[in-house]
Amino acid sequence: MKSFDDAVDLRSIQQYLYCPHRFGLMENDCSWAENAFVSRGNLAHERVTEGKITSARGTVQERSVRVFHDEWGLFGVLDCLELKKDKNGVAIFAHDGKYAVSIVEYKVSAPKNGKIRIEDRMQLLGQKICVDSLFSCHAETYFYYHDTRRREKIEFSEDDYAFLKKTLEEIREVKRNGLIPPIRKDQYCSGCSMKDICLPGKRSRT
Ligand code: SF4
Repeated sequence: MKSFDDAVDLRSIQQYLYCPHRFGLMENDCSWAENAFVSRGNLAHERVTEGKITSARGTVQERSVRVFHDEWGLFGVLDCLELKKDKNGVAIFAHDGKYAVSIVEYKVSAPKNGKIRIEDRMQLLGQKICVDSLFSCHAETYFYYHDTRRREKIEFSEDDYAFLKKTLEEIREVKRNGLIPPIRKDQYCSGCSMKDICLPGKRSRT
């Protein structure tokens, strides 16, 4: 079990992999700024209301579900946990019968070039690690895109698990030592809400 200080919020995975420098500013310099992209993302997630929705066909959607994994030192909130009746599934506390479990993470828009960003994939993998352990299952994982109103199924490899483990160690290093990592040479900044604080054009990159 990781110590309380070493626990990593699932959101931090996405934030760190998007830009380690930005993550350091937020975590250790208490900097923050919003822009239209951030507001749109927040609104999209607000529409995912808390509570339980049951469909006519017996599929249950639990919204804003809190999860954790002690060994991985992860915690956070899922947008949606979907439980579909399945005799080969797993028993779920407070529900009758057995269920196949799916995680659905909501995104404002589908990736323009069809390539899912690593930060989004790794956040979803962190969620899966928590859910698989808590419910003793092999949850399916999906992104749901508000603009296209479509779901995309995501699969993970052993390499993905190893990459996430390495990323979590990097995040802990930044948090423990109060670091603000340098700006990456190939950092893409379009859409970043913290440009006015960071001033990336006036800074050297590694
Ligand atoms: S402007 Fe670019 S380098 Fe600066 S925090 Fe945002 S993404 Fe990172």
